[in-house]
Amino acid sequence: MFPISAIKDYHSALQSAAISCTETVQHYLAVIRDNKHLNVFLEVFEDESLARAAALDLARKNGEPLAPLHGVVVGIKDVLCYQGHRVSAASHMLEDYVAIYNATAIQKLLDAGAIIIGRQNCDEFAMGSSNENSAFGPVRNFIDPTRVPGGSSGGSAVAVQAGMCMVSLGSDTGGSVRQPADFCGIIGLKPTYGRISRYGLIAYASSFDQIGIFARNINDVALVLEVIAGTDEFDSTVSDLPVPSYSHELMGGARTGKLAYIRQALEHPSLDPAIRSSLFSFFDLLRSEGYQVDAVDMEWLDEIVPAYYVLTTAEASSNLSRYDGVRYGFRAPGDLTSPGELYTLTRSRGFGKEVQRRILLGNFVLSAGYFDAYFTKAQQVRRLLSDAFQDIFLNYSGLLMPTVPSPAFRLGEKTTDPIEMYLGDIYTVLANLVGSPAISLPLFQHPSGLPFGLQVMSARFNEVSLLRLSDRFLQLAGKSAGA
Ligand code: GLN
Repeated sequence: MFPISAIKDYHSALQSAAISCTETVQHYLAVIRDNKHLNVFLEVFEDESLARAAALDLARKNGEPLAPLHGVVVGIKDVLCYQGHRVSAASHMLEDYVAIYNATAIQKLLDAGAIIIGRQNCDEFAMGSSNENSAFGPVRNFIDPTRVPGGSSGGSAVAVQAGMCMVSLGSDTGGSVRQPADFCGIIGLKPTYGRISRYGLIAYASSFDQIGIFARNINDVALVLEVIAGTDEFDSTVSDLPVPSYSHELMGGARTGKLAYIRQALEHPSLDPAIRSSLFSFFDLLRSEGYQVDAVDMEWLDEIVPAYYVLTTAEASSNLSRYDGVRYGFRAPGDLTSPGELYTLTRSRGFGKEVQRRILLGNFVLSAGYFDAYFTKAQQVRRLLSDAFQDIFLNYSGLLMPTVPSPAFRLGEKTTDPIEMYLGDIYTVLANLVGSPAISLPLFQHPSGLPFGLQVMSARFNEVSLLRLSDRFLQLAGKSAGA
């Protein structure tokens, strides 16, 4: 039975009493214990998850029907509020902070019968691409512990990769779910901006942030998405569009269709040649299966990373101003003589280097005199991109792209050069700038032996089409690999 291949198989096994929730939780706790060196969990809710499993088992014995996520073992990135539990954003600033309410996504998971097994390590305040910015040490990639798992949701990705839980929730502001999914060889979905409530998600850049899902198969992604998506009185940016039954919609997906890729993205000099050639071979395979795959042009690809970092640091500098040593978490100790001293010492000791860099950058681009040159310009780029994507999705059901220009790099390899680290986000930030859903699918293997993904994007709120395409592509990749 273990590792459990899919939620629906797990539920069949529960139904035939071949397995219990308690045995399942015991299994995952053992895997977590065996992999402590990967530094995935900041805290494991051991007793609590066993108690919840026992209660769910008892409910089954008493004849209660299975809830949609009955006994599903979920890990959560340490930026999601789970009432009565610590939530630190992997920062000293919030090290001892205890959540006073449940994030809406967490509440929905619990209402659907899920078991939350622990909170997962990540980059501090979700800022990073390698999980090396955590105040509690880096996470390591299960395939090769000398390599990074990606970031910022690195712990959540490795937990699924190494079989420490069935699915994880992460957050994706500029790729933090898709990029680690790519590096770890699993699926990572960032839904449309506004599909899932952000209430109870610690904010990084509010007009970009979205909760995302890590899983090993597309059906599990669909099941979790249909549970956590939907309108919420606590987040006015959530859409009130009805939530389709994604797991049912998966069946009978279209076998043909019009797909596009951005010529300049595939020709970009930063793209690893082996990744480029795998993608082109896959496009040929798609064509032989009846899909139309066209190249489309987009000239301003090199503007998108700067636009993303101008806008997100601006939003971050505002969102993080609340951590002042008065209202939340850490306060610098000692006899401080003025509020200025309190703020300065608290913020320079409570925040790590990367978070400080981004707050400074954000304040800079928002300051009088620079606002028009940076912030306004970046907003204009965002608008141009949104229009361009709207046009693409009028004609095409999916846009195909690499997820990351190169596979997982070694720990320490990029820490001295923040710009190099930022440039690796070239393919993922697009979906956040325009609000579209995007997914990374683990279709390929690099000559180095490392996995990497194909990124697929679709029109806003068209997760159905995105999931159907994903399902088909995963099958085709299996076929093309001779499976
Ligand atoms: N790597 C990107 C950044 O550092 C994305 C982070 C994220 O999606 N949270 O901003």
